[in-house]
Amino acid sequence: MLKKGNKLYSILTGSCPKCHQESMYEVKNPYNPGTLFNMHERCSHCNTRYKIEPSFFYGAMYVSYAVGIAFGVAAFVIAFLLLKATLVQTFIAIFITLVVFMPVIIRLSRNIWINIFIHYDPLASRA
Ligand SMILES: [Zn+2]
Repeated sequence: MLKKGNKLYSILTGSCPKCHQESMYEVKNPYNPGTLFNMHERCSHCNTRYKIEPSFFYGAMYVSYAVGIAFGVAAFVIAFLLLKATLVQTFIAIFITLVVFMPVIIRLSRNIWINIFIHYDPLASRA
């Protein structure tokens, strides 16, 4: 299901949205301190420029709102509906989830944002 050529592959792995051949990030692990936002300037494989225009990734904040809500709803369902926690406990669970997964949410948002504008090109992945 998750193979190169699928947008989901680029979004979940953080690989180049055009060729899916390499990671956009200098350090793949989002929890590595201090390197969360460090991205390569261009793809070394297909030469795609990741920062299409100045402040391009500010737009990812709109996406991170939606992604954050998705994580919050998931935490709510697990804590309140499955584990039968109280409302206060559920609130704490949602808060902890959002803090712990913040680096993942930020990276996912950037990946979704750039995949809206750059599409997979089979020719670029071959070259
Ligand atoms: Zn590329």
